[in-house]
Amino acid sequence: MIAHNLGFPRLGPHRDMKKAVESYWRGDSDGRALAAEGAALRRRNWRWQADAGLDLLPVGDFSWYDHVLDLSVMLGVIPERFQDASPADTDTMFRMARGRAPSGPDARPCEMTKWFDTNYHYIVPEFSRGQCFDVAAQRLLGEIEEALSLGHKVKPVVVGPLTYLWLGKTAGGHFDKLDLLPDLVDAYARILAQIASLPVEWVQLDEPVLAMDLPQSWRDAFGAAYGRLGAQGLHILLAVYFGELKENFDCVKDLPIAGLHVDGMMGGGELEEIAGRLDPEWVLSAGIVNGRNVWRNRLGESRERLAALQEAHDRLWVAPSCSLVHVPVDLDLESGLGIEIRSWLAFARQKVAEVGLLARALRGEGGGDWESAVAESEEAAQSRGNSPQTCNPELRARVDEIMASPQKRKTPYRRRAVLQERRLKLPMFPTTTIGSFPQTARIREARRDFRKNVIDREQYTEKMRGEIADVIGFQEKIGLDVLVHGEPERNDMVEYFGELLEGFLLTGNGWVQSYGSRCTKPPIIFGDITRPAPMTLEWSGYAQSLTQKPVKGMLTGAVTILRWSFPRDDISQRQGIYQIALALRDEVADLEKGGLRVIQVDEPALREGLPLRKQGWRDYLDCAVRSFHVTTGGVADDTQVHTHMCYSEFNDILDAIAALDSDVISIEASRSNMELLDAFEHFNYPSEIGPGVYDIHSPRVPPPEQMAASLAAAKEKIAARRLWVNPDCGLKTRGWEEVSQALANMVEAAKRLRRDARGRG
Ligand code: GLN
Ligand code: ZN
Repeated sequence: MIAHNLGFPRLGPHRDMKKAVESYWRGDSDGRALAAEGAALRRRNWRWQADAGLDLLPVGDFSWYDHVLDLSVMLGVIPERFQDASPADTDTMFRMARGRAPSGPDARPCEMTKWFDTNYHYIVPEFSRGQCFDVAAQRLLGEIEEALSLGHKVKPVVVGPLTYLWLGKTAGGHFDKLDLLPDLVDAYARILAQIASLPVEWVQLDEPVLAMDLPQSWRDAFGAAYGRLGAQGLHILLAVYFGELKENFDCVKDLPIAGLHVDGMMGGGELEEIAGRLDPEWVLSAGIVNGRNVWRNRLGESRERLAALQEAHDRLWVAPSCSLVHVPVDLDLESGLGIEIRSWLAFARQKVAEVGLLARALRGEGGGDWESAVAESEEAAQSRGNSPQTCNPELRARVDEIMASPQKRKTPYRRRAVLQERRLKLPMFPTTTIGSFPQTARIREARRDFRKNVIDREQYTEKMRGEIADVIGFQEKIGLDVLVHGEPERNDMVEYFGELLEGFLLTGNGWVQSYGSRCTKPPIIFGDITRPAPMTLEWSGYAQSLTQKPVKGMLTGAVTILRWSFPRDDISQRQGIYQIALALRDEVADLEKGGLRVIQVDEPALREGLPLRKQGWRDYLDCAVRSFHVTTGGVADDTQVHTHMCYSEFNDILDAIAALDSDVISIEASRSNMELLDAFEHFNYPSEIGPGVYDIHSPRVPPPEQMAASLAAAKEKIAARRLWVNPDCGLKTRGWEEVSQALANMVEAAKRLRRDARGRG
C-alpha cells in the first residue's frame, strides 16, 4: 500500500509564492532570486509530504502562475503575439498570463477561466489551425532532478493530452481540436521518454475530463493517445477526479497503462465498483481524503473502506481525492480558532498526514499513533455532530416556507424597465463599474488597524467614510452614471459576508490560490446561517447620501458565497444556498428602505458550480435561479436589480442567466474579444447587458478608441438601448493611476457612442 499525493499547494505557509512573484513583477527582485525562492518552496513542500509518510511525491505541481500555462509553454503552444523571445522564458509565460512582464513587449493576455467546478483559474491554451508542438521540458526535468537530489521518490504530474486539448480554445476560426491530437501525443511521448531517462518509475497524467459527458469522438481518442504513451517506458497513473467516470470507464479499462486514480469523495461509491472491475495488474489509487474541503477525515471509517477495497483489488494506493491546491496549507498556523472547532478541520499538511497514517495502518504499521489518531478523529466528528450551532429549527422552517412558493418578481421586465427609466433617468449607454475600487495601502492599513484594535470603531468608520467620499467624488468628476461606494470595507467579497453572518468561521491564514498570485481566504461554513444585523447599509447608504446620482448597493450572491466558502458536508448544497439567500433577502430589503434605487447581486461563481455531468444541471440551476429570486424578489418594480458574472463559459447556461430575471447584467467579455455576445444575440437575451470593455486583469490602460470599438462591435449584437458600459470586473487589484485613466477613457468611449447615435438619429 503506497501513500501518494496528486499535488500540493504552491503558496507556501505565508503566501511566499505570491510575495516572491509580485516582488519580481515590481522589479524588486530578479530572475535568480525568483528561481531560488521557487526551489526553497518546493524543497519545503516535499519535506513536509515525506515527513507525513508519503511514499511518492508529486513533482510538476509547482507553478509561478498556473500549471496549464506551464504546460502550454513546455509544448510551445505560445500565441504568435508572444513569440518574440526564443526560446520562451519565464517572462514569456508571465506575458501570456498578464499581458506584461519585466522584459518583452506588452500584448493582449490569454484568456483565463475556471478549472472545472473549482475557483482555481487556468490560462486557456490557444490552438491555431495546424498548431505545431515543441518539447521544452527543461523546467520539469530540472524539478524532477531537484527532488531526486533531495533523496525523494517522485512521480511527475502532468495534465493529460485529452484534458489539455479539451481545455483549450481554437484561435483564428473554428476547427476540430482532435485534429491536433496525433501531433500533441507525439510531443507528450517525447516528454515521457525524457522523463524515463531519469530514475523515475511512475508518471501521473491527469484526465479529469473523464468525469464529464464526452462526445464519442473524444472517448474514442483515449485508445490511440494512450496506446502511444503507454509505450514510453514509464508506468502511467491516469488520474480522474471531481466526479465519477461512469461510462467513461470503458475508455480507460483496456489502455496500456498501469493504474487509475479514482475520486472516492466526489465520485461517491464508484470507487468500490471500479475496485471489482479493474484489471488486477493495475494499481487502483483510492482518493479518500477529501482534497476539496477542510473537514477532518474519519480515519476509522476510511480504514474500513480501504480494507474492503483491498479485498476486491489487491494493488491499492491511497491518496487525497484530488490535488490539494484547493485547500489551505497548514491548520497549525490557525492559533485564533477555538480548540474544539480546530479539531474538526484538516488542511493540506494535515491531509497528507491522514493519507500517510491510513497507508501505515493498512500495512499493519499503525501502532499507538494510529489508535490515538482514530480516537481523536472520532471525537471531533462527535463534537461537530452535537454542536447546537449546526441546526436552527426556526431557520429551517423559514427555508421550507419560502421554498414552497415562487419568489420571482411579479411585474415583467419590460414594464419594470419603463418604471426604472422614469426613476433613474439614465442616458443611453449608461456607464458604471462592478463595485470595488483600488484597495490602496491606506485602506488595508485602516482595516488592519481596526482589526488589531489600534483604532476604534468610530475612527474606522470615519476613515472608511473618507474613502467612500473620495470614490464618489471621483466618479462624479469623470461623469459615471451609476455610482458605487467602492467596497473599501471588504477584504474580499465572500469573506466580508462570512464575517458578518452567523454560521461562518474565518481563518487567519487559510489562503487558497485563485489565479496567479491572487489568493482568497474562503470562510468555512460550519453552522446554520443567519444575519444578526444589516451588513452593507452603513456604507452604501452613506455613499448615496453624498450624491444625487444613483448608487448601487453591492451584495455577493448566495451561490457565490457558498461556492467560495468551504461548505458543510452534513447538509445539502441546496439547503446551504437557501439559508444564505434568506439572509441576503433581508439585506436587500434594508438597502431599499435605506434609499438605494439600484442593487447588484454578484454571482461570478454561478457557472463554476455547474455539475460536471449534464444530468445534474437542472437541479443545480433551478436552485441557483430560485436563490436569486429569494434574494431579489421582494423589491419594488422601480428598484433596478443588477447582477455580475465573469471568467466563465456562459453560452451553455444563458437560459438560466435569463431566468434570474435581473434588470441588468454586467459580464466579463474583453478577454474573449466579445465572442460572448454572439451567444446573447442568438439567445435573444431579454434585458440589459454591460459587456466588459476594460480588462481589469491587465495593467494596460485601454485607450478610448479601443473601448469605443468594442462597444461598436457589441452594438452589432445587442440593441443600443439595452447596452451598458462597464469594466470586466471589480477594480480592487488595480492602482488608482491606471484606473482613473481607464475609467475616464471608458466614459469618453460612451460619450462618443452617444454622439454617433445622435448624429445618426
Ligand atoms: N463587486 C465585486 C467587485 O467589484 C465583484 C468581484 C467579482 O466579480 N469577482 O470587486
Ligand atoms: Zn467579476
